[in-house]
Amino acid sequence: MPIYEYKCDKCNKKFEMLVMGKDRPACPDCNSATVTRVMSACGFISKGSGGETVSSSAGAASCAGCTASNCAGCGV
Ligand SMILES: [Zn+2]
Repeated sequence: MPIYEYKCDKCNKKFEMLVMGKDRPACPDCNSATVTRVMSACGFISKGSGGETVSSSAGAASCAGCTASNCAGCGV
């Protein structure tokens, strides 16, 4: 089951939700259904060019504020 990350357009809260089919999640804070799906790159443990695995502990900490287009933590 895919767990997607969403950002509420109303209150800007980010949350993760397990979504079945084409269900649209609602914001847990303000209950708004106007949410944008964020493609999280943090689910992937990317290999560096040298073949080393990026530390998952450091990545997890950095990726708390990760967005699809801008994440210094996971190098997107
Ligand atoms: Zn909200």
